[in-house]
Amino acid sequence: MENSIDGKVRLRFAPSPTGGLHLGGVRTVLFNYLFAKHHGGELILRIEDTDQTRFVPGAEKYILDTLHWCGIIPNESPLHGGAYGPYRQSERKALYTPYAQSLIEQGFAYYAFDTPEELEEKRKKVPNFQYSHKFRQEMRNSISLSENEVSNLLKNGTPYVIRIKMPQDEEIVFNDMIRGEVRFDVNTVDDKVLLKADGMPTYHLAVVVDDYLMKITHAFRGEEWLPSAPVHILLWKYLFGIEAMPLWAHLPLILKPEGTGKLSKRDGERLGFPVFAMDWTDPHSKETTVGFKEKGFLPEAFINFLAILGWNDGSQQEIFSVEELISKFDIERVHKSGARFDYEKAKWFNQEWIKRTDNTSLASLLQPFLEAANIEVHEPSYLVKVIGLVKERCHLLSDFITQSHFFFRAPTHIDIATILPKWDEKKQHFFDTLVEQSSQHINKGLSTLPVKTLEDNFKALATAQNIKTADLLLPLRIMLVGGKFGPGVFDIIESIEFSDATARIKYALQLISTK
Ligand code: GLU
Repeated sequence: MENSIDGKVRLRFAPSPTGGLHLGGVRTVLFNYLFAKHHGGELILRIEDTDQTRFVPGAEKYILDTLHWCGIIPNESPLHGGAYGPYRQSERKALYTPYAQSLIEQGFAYYAFDTPEELEEKRKKVPNFQYSHKFRQEMRNSISLSENEVSNLLKNGTPYVIRIKMPQDEEIVFNDMIRGEVRFDVNTVDDKVLLKADGMPTYHLAVVVDDYLMKITHAFRGEEWLPSAPVHILLWKYLFGIEAMPLWAHLPLILKPEGTGKLSKRDGERLGFPVFAMDWTDPHSKETTVGFKEKGFLPEAFINFLAILGWNDGSQQEIFSVEELISKFDIERVHKSGARFDYEKAKWFNQEWIKRTDNTSLASLLQPFLEAANIEVHEPSYLVKVIGLVKERCHLLSDFITQSHFFFRAPTHIDIATILPKWDEKKQHFFDTLVEQSSQHINKGLSTLPVKTLEDNFKALATAQNIKTADLLLPLRIMLVGGKFGPGVFDIIESIEFSDATARIKYALQLISTK
């Protein structure tokens, strides 16, 4: 394969540890992962932490935990190690300076001594100021100053940054794997800082040097990085030769549900859905942003709907396992235009994956939700059985609680108001008889009966008392679970058994009698 090393593709996910991982970030790593695995290659996780001002403690661990939850295990990372480490850019600091120096020596970069105050001053004076060929001469740098002045400033230890010297009146062209040919007018790009005053590289220098040193063959990243591509292309050309540059794809944005504008954390808050992969607590504000995991998504569903955001295999198929995605993924089938995020559709994917997941696995995934709801499960097999009864109704793992809490404890609220308008003596008599029958079963030591028998007996009693079964089922359901929800009423009685069922019916009858 073109651009590969020894035939092996090497892709990287290069997040900056600045906070929770947004849907867009996870989709980026997913597409890199799918492509790498499709071609039998490797995925590298590189932490881009050169901007110390944006560094957030805990963010790196969060990224690793998220990848772990998603089942995307990098071959090389700060955690897994590898032959091209270290995998945190801050630990590679010393390595970038010689490249910046070499750019200066070749005349592709220059020292700039302007203080932050001087820059601020200039920005105030010149609207839309850009540090570029237009203003370089007016600033304090190794292009505008004499050689002597420059060497004195350097000798005196004057702080400086190194900037790229963008060429003038040139067009830069490259081939994006999704967008095809992309052209840039370099006159619109400023002389980006490559090395900062603290000796740290900026993203632009570090990303190019590391993609080279880590032998990256393909790099897929968010569309927001497209404007930086001309700077990176030039750095590749100047430092390593353009042939060595990875093949790039810039992934389209994930759009707001309305279809316009990038989906943001605020949209999630506004519309009540998660935007981060997992819960993220900001270490400064202590504010927690809810994640898909804690909201009750299965990783299989999360991966599946993310893959579909902007990609399809050309068929109508929507449900894909990760193995299928690996075998079918093709970066060239990713759409150029943004993909609208639809939370209802995401929940549909989750429901489909809940249906496909075996009940025992669901039982262990449900533990945190059961704990949060204070539901104690005495018998694991009972939980597995209940899951089987309600799973089809659940879009989220958290729905299990609303759909099944009454299997574990009597409802605290009974919607008597719905029963009362149609309540009459005949119904009262029917339920009194039902309680009597159940009590007799209990007295005989019979805890429960098969679902079908329960249903037949119920119908027989209704017929004997000349009442329509249909009119009895809703009150019965409300007495058992509290409201108009839950699986089949006879399934519920069979599971909670005569003792609980009878107690609940008796309690509801008592409430009715006081109204
Ligand atoms: N560090 C960049 C980010 O935080 C990575 C961009 C790239 O993949 O080149 O998204």
